[in-house]
Amino acid sequence: MIRRPLELFACTLTGGLLAMVYGDSRWAGVAGSLAGASLWVTLDNVRAARVLNWLRHGHAVRPPRVSAVWAEVVERSRKGFKALNRKARKSEARLQEFLAAIQASPNGVLLLDKNATIEWCNFTAAQHLGFDSKRDLRQQIRNLIRDPAFIAYLGSGDYAKPVEIDGRDAYPGHPQRISIHIHVYGKGRRLMLTRDITAVEQAEAMRRDFVANVSHEIRTPLTVVSGFIETLQHLDVGPDDRQRYLALMAQQAQRMQTLVSDLLTLSRLEGSPIPGSGEWVRSQELLDQVVGEARALSDVVAQGRHDILAEPSPVLEIAGARSELVSAMSNLLSNAVRYTPPGGEIRAGWRALDDGGAEFYVSDTGPGIEAEHLPRLTERFYRVDRSRSRETGGTGLGLAIVKHVAQRHGGQMAVDSVVGAGSTFRITLPPSRVLVD
Ligand code: ADP
Repeated sequence: MIRRPLELFACTLTGGLLAMVYGDSRWAGVAGSLAGASLWVTLDNVRAARVLNWLRHGHAVRPPRVSAVWAEVVERSRKGFKALNRKARKSEARLQEFLAAIQASPNGVLLLDKNATIEWCNFTAAQHLGFDSKRDLRQQIRNLIRDPAFIAYLGSGDYAKPVEIDGRDAYPGHPQRISIHIHVYGKGRRLMLTRDITAVEQAEAMRRDFVANVSHEIRTPLTVVSGFIETLQHLDVGPDDRQRYLALMAQQAQRMQTLVSDLLTLSRLEGSPIPGSGEWVRSQELLDQVVGEARALSDVVAQGRHDILAEPSPVLEIAGARSELVSAMSNLLSNAVRYTPPGGEIRAGWRALDDGGAEFYVSDTGPGIEAEHLPRLTERFYRVDRSRSRETGGTGLGLAIVKHVAQRHGGQMAVDSVVGAGSTFRITLPPSRVLVD
């Protein structure tokens, strides 16, 4: 700090002395001193201007070479810039990490300022709502989402609950529902969270349908049974009628029992672990068992007037849950028996496949199934021939069970059918579950 006054003093003195030597008068000395001091002030201003210029451009420009106190100002500022830069870089890195985390969120995140202008949004929100996460920044959200339910929600200021609207990808036959929930923060800013709830809504619709279907299936036999109970309680019926009513009641009770048993099978299939590949079952044993049951069923529904053939098959062993395999195979055979008119032929067997896997097949000469029904056959309670299904004790759950069992064993169920000629149902299993002797 002492250097500046010394510099000024030196310049003033030098100016004064020089003027006195050359001017040879006291006034010349005073004028020289003033000139020396002015020179120093000018030089100092030039240095100050250089430093100021550098400060204005910050760290982008090289620091000026200056001396004395200006050198210290430059050095301290340079260090300050550096520290600030380091801090800014750190903050930027943290911000980027934070934004990357929000980008990775399965939910959409959108920030609105107090005028409902979009300040930032992640890709998921943009995808849900159908806009561009960069191009549409600074746009009014009202101009981009025009759904009346959303506009009313945004304007209401009551954000206790979310609002649901159609998503960008929604079109007839392809629903997409998006839930939007707004949370207020800061000074009138809003955080908007979006969630794709299509699957949740579909699951909920399926659950509702399922409950309605089960109730409907149970209501009919239950109405019949309670009707007969009332009749027997209040009317004096003869022994023959009584026997007939009891037989009908037993039949309806059996129907409910079959339905409950199929429902339990389905829920067991959904809730239990995938069958391991440690338990090996002989395919022939399975075939003999289900064909035996099919012949017994044919005796009941068609006085045994079906030709049921267990076709010779290679000796195979199947890895899986025996009870599940029997259940799937007997469902296919029972369908063939129930839907094929008396006199028809039914063939069932196992065959090895070229890829090392195997398939169980059941072919019948029944009525066949129109192509439009094929994709829906494994839906729960879907029936093509409703009355035939009910007459023969069908629950509408048989093929759903077959599909589940096949999938749990790493395989699948397939159908080929020609209307008027018959159908072939197959369960194919992968090589890992098949052993050919
Ligand atoms: P259900 O208990 O009604 O038989 P399934 O799920 O086993 O239910 O079968 C669904 C529907 O597929 C049946 O209602 C029937 O209309 C049709 N179906 C199944 N197997 C055959 C078959 N072999 N021949 C003709 N139609 C069949």
